Amino acid sequence: MQSNQQVDRVLTGDRTTGKLHLGHYVGSLKNRIDMQYQYDTFILLADVQALTTHFEAPKEMGRHLRQITLDYLAAGINPEKVTIFVQSLVPEIAELTLFYSMFVTVNALRHNPTVKSEAADRGYDQLYYGFLGYPVSQAADITFCKATLVPVGDDQLPHIEQTRKIVRRFNELYAPVLLEPKAVVGEVPRLIGLDGRSKMSKSLGNAITLDASAQDVREKIRIAVTDTNRIHKSDPGNPEVCPVFTYHQAFASEGAEEIAAGCRSGTLGCVECKERVGKRINNLLEPMRETRRMYESAPHKVDEILIAGTERARNIGKETMREVREAMGLNYNFDNDGIRG
Ligand code: SF4
Repeated sequence: MQSNQQVDRVLTGDRTTGKLHLGHYVGSLKNRIDMQYQYDTFILLADVQALTTHFEAPKEMGRHLRQITLDYLAAGINPEKVTIFVQSLVPEIAELTLFYSMFVTVNALRHNPTVKSEAADRGYDQLYYGFLGYPVSQAADITFCKATLVPVGDDQLPHIEQTRKIVRRFNELYAPVLLEPKAVVGEVPRLIGLDGRSKMSKSLGNAITLDASAQDVREKIRIAVTDTNRIHKSDPGNPEVCPVFTYHQAFASEGAEEIAAGCRSGTLGCVECKERVGKRINNLLEPMRETRRMYESAPHKVDEILIAGTERARNIGKETMREVREAMGLNYNFDNDGIRG
């Protein structure tokens, strides 16, 4: 930690493109729940960054961000401990993004792996300005609140490195007011989708959302792809190629070995195997359903949590911007303080 903050501040978040699913739970949410009592955790509801791909549907953002907040609360995020805030309601992030964009070259952004892969799919002539600038806006997300730790998977490391470069450049150019964040690199387990082809994703229709009913879970698991070479129950199966087995590993690791052995020996049928994993998943989701019902019956509570979190984030952002403007010499000291609210 490089500041007067008593504990490290963590920044993490989600683009507000839809409900969360089991892949999100395993990949990041579970880790956030574990970290919330250890760090000053900020969770960003990235509605602006959602627009980089969903700019034709801005009206959906309000619904998505409330749904995601419900998912957080249901899963065990404690709003007394964690600051959940809305990106577009903290204009200081946009302001910082703009200032950083003056000294980040287009070439540096073109080398970003996410930008590169998008450009490979669509071509640079179809790449949007906002998408190209995504790493700059991420740098603003991290630095406006002086986050010192950012949990990421390996594939996100270049984004954090870009932020660190921006911080160093800013501090050299003006004054050392920004903090260089550290990436907390953990293995980010990626849950395979029910189709067994790609990672779990709501847009691909291969996901179990965190708000799924017990019946939904059973139905979805029932039609999940298994080892396609296994025709009869007595055929030896190969759990290594079966998506259902990865769910056993993710949600019932202590029983996974027994499942694998039963599958390999042809003594455990897919129907029973799926019933077992469906039960495990429902055991995980049942307490979430209860908490969700409680918040759904008092929706104003969700809004109050978002308002309180966003106010806290804004206050910190205003203080950072005061320091940034002073460092840059953009604090013009006009008599009329009302110009900047
Ligand atoms: S028994 Fe289970 S692990 Fe084996 S193929 Fe069937 S569903 Fe997959």
